[in-house]
Amino acid sequence: MGSGQVTSTSEPFDFQGKHVVVAGLGVSGVPAAKVLHARGAVVTVVNDGDDARAREQAAELEALGITVRLGDGSSLPEGTELIVTTPGWQPDKPLFLAAEQAGVPVWGDVELAWRLRGLDGRKAAPWLAVTGTNGKTTTVRMLASILTAAGLRTAAVGNIGVSLLDVVLGEEQYDVLAVELSSYQLHWSPSLRADSAVVLNIAPDHLDWHGSMEAYARDKGRIYEGNRVACVYNVEDRATEDLVREADVEEGCRAVGFTLGTPAPSQLGVVDGILVDRAFVENRQKNAQELAEVSDIDPPAPHNIANALAAAALARAFGVPAPAVRDGLRAFRPDAHRIEHVADLDGVAYVDDSKATNTHAAEASLAAYESIVWIAGGLAKGATFDELVAKSAKRLRAVVLIGADRALIRDALARHAPEVPVVDLDRTDTGAMLQAVTEAKRLAVAGDTVLLAPACASMDMFTNYNQRGDAFAAAVRELGA
Ligand code: ADP
Repeated sequence: MGSGQVTSTSEPFDFQGKHVVVAGLGVSGVPAAKVLHARGAVVTVVNDGDDARAREQAAELEALGITVRLGDGSSLPEGTELIVTTPGWQPDKPLFLAAEQAGVPVWGDVELAWRLRGLDGRKAAPWLAVTGTNGKTTTVRMLASILTAAGLRTAAVGNIGVSLLDVVLGEEQYDVLAVELSSYQLHWSPSLRADSAVVLNIAPDHLDWHGSMEAYARDKGRIYEGNRVACVYNVEDRATEDLVREADVEEGCRAVGFTLGTPAPSQLGVVDGILVDRAFVENRQKNAQELAEVSDIDPPAPHNIANALAAAALARAFGVPAPAVRDGLRAFRPDAHRIEHVADLDGVAYVDDSKATNTHAAEASLAAYESIVWIAGGLAKGATFDELVAKSAKRLRAVVLIGADRALIRDALARHAPEVPVVDLDRTDTGAMLQAVTEAKRLAVAGDTVLLAPACASMDMFTNYNQRGDAFAAAVRELGA
C-alpha cells in the first residue's frame, strides 16, 4: 500500500465545446448523452444495433441536436476528445483500441457521475464503495441500513440498480453514499476515489469480458485507489489483501481486515457469536468494541456474517458508533431470492437462493446448511463444478438436477460424491421446477433443507433468477397446500 502519488479528487471537468463520443445507447447511454449535451459538449452517440428501439432513442436525442450513428459502434469519429461508454462494452472492441492509440480517455457511467458530483452548488457526498464477485448488493444494503440507523442521509446506489448519475445530479442531499460497483464499472473509472472501499471476495467470473483472472482482479482492485480512510479486505481471501497492498492510497489510509474468526488488531471479526471491532477503537492492541450479535444478522449464514462485517467496517471507517451498527443490521432484511426461507413442510426447510448464479455463490450457500437436498443446474457460463461438489459433498442428502448444462454437475457428482443419489430431470421447460421440488420433497427427511442454489444462470428455463425463485416458491406452496 503506497501513498503520496495520488492526486486528490478529480478537478471539475469542463465539457464546454468538447467532442465527446457516447458509446452505446440504452440505460446509461441516453442519460449520459443528454447530460453531456446540456453541459455544452458536442456529443456523438455510436451504437452497434440499428433496431426499432435504437431508432426511437436516436430520434429523441437527435431532436435535442445530438448526432447519433446507428449500426457502427466500432470506428472512432474524427476529433474525438473523450469517450463515455456503456460499462458492458468489452475493452477489446476496436473503438477502444483506436481510442488508446489516439490517446483518447475512456470513461464509464460511474466515472462520469464521479466527475459531475459536487457541481452547481450541490454537496459532494463521500462514497463508501463495495465490489466483489458475490455479496455486493447485500453488503451495500446492509451498509445503507447501518448509516441510516446512525442518522445519516444516505442511499444504496450504483450497480444495485440506482443510477449514480441521477443521484449526483438530483435534488436530494446526502451525507454519504453506499455505492455498489461492478468490475466493468471499475474498469472504466480512472479517477474514482472512494473514502473507504471493500473487495469482498474474488472468484473467477466474467473472464470472457476481462480477458484473464489477473485483469479481472486488477479491475476490482481499482476500488482501493486513492482511498482516504480505509481499504477493507477479506482476511479469508488473500487475493483481496494483495490488492490493498498494490493500491496507491492517501496518506494515513489504513488496511482493515474482516474475518469470521477472532480478529487481530486492525481487524473486525467474530468472538463467541459477537461481532467485534479491533480496528476502529482506541488502543487496538488491547481493546475491542462489541458491535452486534451474529443473531442480529438475517440470515446468519457464514457468508452473510462476512457481508455484515464488511458493511460494519466501512460504516465504522466513516465514524458510525457501535449501537448504530447493531440497529442497522437488525433493521436489514435481505432481498428476495437470496437465501430466502420459503416454508417448512414436515420438518424440512425450503430455501430459495436462486441468486446463487455462479459456483462461488452456491458454495457459500451450501456451506450454510448441514444436510441438504440440492436443486441445481441451468446455464453454466463456462464454469466447472468439481471444486464446488468436492467441498460440499458431505452435506448432500441428494441432488435434483435441472437445466441445459446439468450434465456438467452430474459428472462432477459422479467423480466426487458417487454415493449421493441424483435425480436428473431431462427437461428445461418452466414447469420442470414443480417436478424438481416434488422429487426433492420425496428425498428429504425431517431436519433437512431443500435448497435451490443453482450455481448457474437461469435463462435456459426462465426469464431471470427472480422468475426461477418464484417458480420454486410456487411449487413449494403447491406441495404444502
Ligand atoms: P451480488 O450483488 O454480488 O451479486 P448478492 O448480495 O446479490 O451479490 O448475493 C448473490 C448471491 O451470492 C447470494 O444469493 C448468495 O448465494 C451469494 N453470496 C452472498 N454473499 C456472499 C459472500 N460474501 N460470499 C460468497 N457468496 C455470497
